[in-house]
Amino acid sequence: MKTPRLPALRSRRSFLGELAAGAAVAAFAPSVRGQPAAPRKLGIAIAGLGGYAAGQLAPALQLTQHCEVRGVVTGTPAKGREWAQHFRFPETSIYSYDTMARLADNRDIDLVYVVTPNALHPAHTIAAAKAGKHVICEKPMANTVAECDAMLAACRAAKVKLSIGYRLQFEPHNLAMKERARSAEFGPYLKLSGALAFPIRRRVWRVEKALAGGGPLMDVGIYCIQAAGMAADTTGTNHAKFAPVAITAREHPKTRPEFFLDVEEGIDWTMEFANGAKGEFMTSYNVGADRFRAEGAKDWIEFAPAFPYGGLKVTTARGPLALAVPPSQQAVQMDHFAQCVREGRESPVSGEMGRRDMVIIEAIYASAAGGGKRVAVKV
Ligand code: NAD
Repeated sequence: MKTPRLPALRSRRSFLGELAAGAAVAAFAPSVRGQPAAPRKLGIAIAGLGGYAAGQLAPALQLTQHCEVRGVVTGTPAKGREWAQHFRFPETSIYSYDTMARLADNRDIDLVYVVTPNALHPAHTIAAAKAGKHVICEKPMANTVAECDAMLAACRAAKVKLSIGYRLQFEPHNLAMKERARSAEFGPYLKLSGALAFPIRRRVWRVEKALAGGGPLMDVGIYCIQAAGMAADTTGTNHAKFAPVAITAREHPKTRPEFFLDVEEGIDWTMEFANGAKGEFMTSYNVGADRFRAEGAKDWIEFAPAFPYGGLKVTTARGPLALAVPPSQQAVQMDHFAQCVREGRESPVSGEMGRRDMVIIEAIYASAAGGGKRVAVKV
């Protein structure tokens, strides 16, 4: 896939001025409201300048109020120079993956956003932590639970904070679902279902197990796991560790075995929760799907589409739910983490949550490998 071009650079004022009806990011950053303006933006270095970094994070970083790009880590120096020019940081703040240790000497950079292929998340997160930088790591956190443990240990040892790039944890409709699930008026949701799938045609790292860790489950199925966590969690206690108690899964027969050499083409799975809630989910690289639904005795809520960067359509038993949304999910997500760092608190969208999702994913693969046997989940 060709990396998208960086957005045309505009001043933050003119960019915000173009946003509809004053829907500024600040209104959506949960703990910003009512607080005085922050003294200094935190500096981010983006590690991995591919599609998501250029297409989504770069425009978001023109909206953020609490952080800004002050460096990059890339294997392509020309891309680094383009980012340096675009975001006006010195070329001395362009690093390669091999020189990440030198980030330790750069006081302009407070945190690193790891946006490389999944298999590289552990090495890049650990290198950033060792350089004393806080980390946002893209989903999935890693390819195994053992790698997640190593990342958590490295961040603990370096006393830096770790968050995962789960942008929908900050999306207003998803937050409303989470609140409804816990409220006596709406919840609990006991029947869940969802699917996220898209047909993949070109041979990219996403279909190589060594880099992706698996197929569509690692890449997009994880969104259903995330949504299910929000819809089923009525405990209100340790959100990052809330998990199903058991999984069953079946891999789809491969229609293109020569293409999907060592990753699944698609997979169906179920999740059982301690309160009796059950969910049925699907992901695939062979069809298109984008939906999530949660049902209970007092309410149902349906997202279709459920997981895009914008334009979610949400209906409930009581009618459509059309909340004001921020201009950029990613800007809210990054600002929230910057505030956590500044205020010295852990992000609720933590490394623990990324690890939890890997425990669930490993259980799904174990069940599928065992012909659909029921696998207990222990986070
Ligand atoms: P991409 O292929 O477009 O970009 C990957 C980047 O990593 C490229 O710049 C590439 O040069 C670099 N890279 C470094 N070492 C590499 C290697 N050994 N092999 C291949 N590329 C290498 O991928 P992307 O879509 O930007 O995805 C990157 C990460 O972001 C993935 O973990 C993905 O799951 C995540 N992502 C998250 C979202 C979201 O909504 N949160 C959306 C898209 C992607």
